[in-house]
Amino acid sequence: MSTSGTGQSTVPFTVPSFAGEVSDAVVKVLDSGWVTTGPETAAFEQDFADHLGASHVVAVASCTTALELCLRAMDLPPGSAVLTPSLTFCGAINAILHAGHRPVLVDIDAGTLVPSPATVAAAAARVAPAAMVVQNQGGYPVDVPALTEAAGLDRTRVVEDAAHGPGAERGGRPVGSTSYAACFSFYATKNMPIGEGGAVATTDRDLADRIRATRLHGMSKDSWRRYLPGGSWRYDVKDVGLKANMTDIQATIGRAQLAALPGWQLRRAELVARYDELLDGLPGLVVPQRDLDGVRHAWHLYQVRVPDRDGVIAELDAAGVATSVHFIPASHLTAYRAVLGADECASVPVTDRVAEELLSLPLYPGLSEDGQDRVAAALAGALRARG
Ligand SMILES: *Cc1c(COP(=O)(O)O)cnc(C)c1O
Repeated sequence: MSTSGTGQSTVPFTVPSFAGEVSDAVVKVLDSGWVTTGPETAAFEQDFADHLGASHVVAVASCTTALELCLRAMDLPPGSAVLTPSLTFCGAINAILHAGHRPVLVDIDAGTLVPSPATVAAAAARVAPAAMVVQNQGGYPVDVPALTEAAGLDRTRVVEDAAHGPGAERGGRPVGSTSYAACFSFYATKNMPIGEGGAVATTDRDLADRIRATRLHGMSKDSWRRYLPGGSWRYDVKDVGLKANMTDIQATIGRAQLAALPGWQLRRAELVARYDELLDGLPGLVVPQRDLDGVRHAWHLYQVRVPDRDGVIAELDAAGVATSVHFIPASHLTAYRAVLGADECASVPVTDRVAEELLSLPLYPGLSEDGQDRVAAALAGALRARG
């Protein structure tokens, strides 16, 4: 807990956890003489691949660039229709647009807050999609093969936005371990924070090789390899890439963080079980349905639906409890409304209705039980006043 300007203690919405080993690891890289993409990045890729049980991992600058690199690697005709939930982060929509394609909105199931095979099939029937981005909202691992089939797509045309995915499993397999292209985020607020960073996990060696080149301008050899003894200054650019590499400073933080992640995931699950108890039966509160059969939830977010959401947020804020909303639907944001047009924006009515009620409560390994009690008491007060 921190203290606000008025002296009242506040419960922040999120606080990143850092493993004790991070500081020494960073100093070691700074002293090594090589700070950008190099041996630590390669070691982080191997560690993350081992952690997930994935065949190949390529570390990049962010999840947003990971999504764009994967979409570009599909070599779709410009302007192709790419399915995406409207209830997603703006970076995922930008990735589709920067790759040169057209986002096509998929509605959610009101109970689970994620697209269902039925909502995907409905969107696919409107447009004959070339590809799809699916998203593990809040850390819930969606059934990617079922959604792929509903879209009528090959698995090599589906990109998984796994920004909320580390720690999630379906059928005993971690998110990313069986994916053609799963994109992870190590942004400051995510379950495994580096500060900034991302990664692609793939079962496909060709995709991994392609992204390894396109994350750094498309150069056939990165500078670490060119500057090694016996390395040559020559390189080719066969594919126009992005500047989206991860640095060794980020990678060494990631390696230390990865060792701490399983413990943090257990703490998140404990806090979720505690929220479930503390909030049980509050008037007007709706907790998303979670079909946890064969599923391990990553608990990136504790999302609920409440009446008079904006009023509840203001009341929680006044009580020193910070909250957030995931997400403002793409169809509500100015730039996308202009690109998508009114008809497309009107195609996701369930998302529009549910989005007005969404609220994310503080959830992070460093959240104390005392802090959590204050969140629950403030929310109970706000809802009883409205019930
Ligand atoms: C955070 C987030 C992203 C973007 O991650 P970056 O690493 O910051 O680019 C993409 N999708 C979702 C669902 C996110 O929450």
